[in-house]
Amino acid sequence: MAMTNSIANEHISKMAPYAVANLSTAGGLPLLSMAQNESIRPPSPNAIEAGRAVMKLGAEYPDPDYPNLRDTIAEFYRIDADRILCAAGSMELINCITQAFAGPGRRVLSSEYGYALFRNSAEKVMAPFDTAKEINYTVSVDNLIESVRPDTALVYVANPGNPTGTKLPLSEMVRLREGLPDQTVLVIDEAYGEFTDEEDLLSSSLLDASNLIILRTLSKAYGLASARVGWGVFPSNLGSEVRKLIIPSSVSSVSAAMASAAIADQAYMRETCDLTNKLREDFHRQVTEIGLHCINSHTNFVLIEFPSVDLAVSADKALRDVGVIMRGMGGYNLPQCLRATVANSNVMKVATERLVTWARENLR
Ligand SMILES: *Cc1c(COP(=O)(O)O)cnc(C)c1O
Repeated sequence: MAMTNSIANEHISKMAPYAVANLSTAGGLPLLSMAQNESIRPPSPNAIEAGRAVMKLGAEYPDPDYPNLRDTIAEFYRIDADRILCAAGSMELINCITQAFAGPGRRVLSSEYGYALFRNSAEKVMAPFDTAKEINYTVSVDNLIESVRPDTALVYVANPGNPTGTKLPLSEMVRLREGLPDQTVLVIDEAYGEFTDEEDLLSSSLLDASNLIILRTLSKAYGLASARVGWGVFPSNLGSEVRKLIIPSSVSSVSAAMASAAIADQAYMRETCDLTNKLREDFHRQVTEIGLHCINSHTNFVLIEFPSVDLAVSADKALRDVGVIMRGMGGYNLPQCLRATVANSNVMKVATERLVTWARENLR
């Protein structure tokens, strides 16, 4: 849909829209979504109750500093509340961070299969975007450091990665931070951080680096994708700049209340993660047994690698015929892969059974 005579700014008219999942099923079948990395279950009942309770304040603007939400995050993640910024999903934070630190002549660097919004945010501000090769679907710190140019302003790494699901140890994150110039800002997006406990960046010494931003979201482990709440930990000199770019009160009062209550219910979130990890491991094993390759995941999804692009397309079609929709990876230059979000056990059963029969007919 690129229009040549657009009256929009040239860099916008040339930009591809951010690709969202195609959720249409064959013949109006009920949708069994494995496409959007959503939680296997609704948010904590406490979050639903808390959201309902603030609806009566609907006439009032939210406090743009979200004091209750930031205090709750500070308490449960043991971080100074002054260092936390909240926004309408980590997507808003990514857009604001890129707007603050990158632009024409201020490059953005990410890894080969980095989250698509990193590139999209760079295009919006005309910042050149570079990528560093991954190794075995895993971020390579050496390749990232080698790809830094004198005008690289910003480096984005999702850890664990999306769409790969792979995770680098804390020691590698430390090595990356130490290998970057002091004036380069490093953003580590931990959207899936809750699914893996070990080596928590938030409780590490890296947290005190002056050029490091850590992002988290309520959209995955907390099951609040619809509420649109993300947060980040910022060194104060960087946070004060990004703060200027966040739309005031972009998190609604209902969303902020739901988020606070969800974070306060750590037991529910932990249970979601445990259930998800168990379902993921079962799925990984079953898919491997039928002869497909799964990348080891530390998230609520699995990247499945097919022997060819044609076979990935064929499996996608077979799954859609029973209403199951996974995410095609053509946009990530991985057309031989499908990304399967862990869904509830009923959906997982339908998907696995369909893949088993498909494999019998299509894999030698
Ligand atoms: C899902 C996801 C996000 C979350 O975005 P929200 O705007 O908070 O819903 C951020 N980063 C990555 C890598 C993701 O996969």
